[in-house]
Amino acid sequence: MTIRAVLFDLDDTLFDHQFCSRTALAVVRAMHPAFDSIDIPILEAAHARILETLHADVMVGRIPLDSARVERFRQLYETAGVEADATLASRTAVAYRDAYTDARQAVAGAASVLAAVHTRAKVGIVSNNLLQEQRDKLRHCGLENFYDVLVVSEEFGVSKPDPRLFEIALARLECAADETVMVGDSWAADVMGALAAGIRPIWFNRNATEVPAGAPPVSVIASFEDVDDVLRTIFEGECAPASSRP
Ligand SMILES: [Mg+2]
Repeated sequence: MTIRAVLFDLDDTLFDHQFCSRTALAVVRAMHPAFDSIDIPILEAAHARILETLHADVMVGRIPLDSARVERFRQLYETAGVEADATLASRTAVAYRDAYTDARQAVAGAASVLAAVHTRAKVGIVSNNLLQEQRDKLRHCGLENFYDVLVVSEEFGVSKPDPRLFEIALARLECAADETVMVGDSWAADVMGALAAGIRPIWFNRNATEVPAGAPPVSVIASFEDVDDVLRTIFEGECAPASSRP
């Protein structure tokens, strides 16, 4: 089957959220002595955990975005044993946000890969996040000319791994699931979601995360820096066996 469409996740697939967050957390860490005793990887893990929970709350409208940003840092201070008042938490949220925005960049090689893929297939970006935020990232990273559709969960009220978000992308691209590939870093959202939609997944695994136990066999891309290699995996890779599809 010829591949006519390639779907990409955005955060930590094309856009380097990990780098931005790490850079911004270094700024946050310098804002209060209580963070000195917490190693950076531990602070990062705590922040990621809090962000994930609050992000889900924002996505379903349980908490406004601005409140979630302040609450995130109140909770981060709490992990350092500090009871942050609203002023400290919001000052820290602003500092994180400013540093994050300044640090925005694409994952190494992602722009070249996206440009090359777009000459051979339609490109869709399928992301669990806020629409304006994702548009801004794509524009800032110079990626806005290399995709055909942007499908963001906020706009449709469903999030990956729900196959409906992938199906919206397929409909907009006028492509069928079996002529489409999905590339993403999240095993749960991107790989399992694509399989549920009948789309061949490719796991973007730049941190050499272990494959979950009992996982179906899927192709892996560890880096976008060798464009030809990435194109081979996308356009010449094997389909996941049908029996592995849930
Ligand atoms: Mg991602």
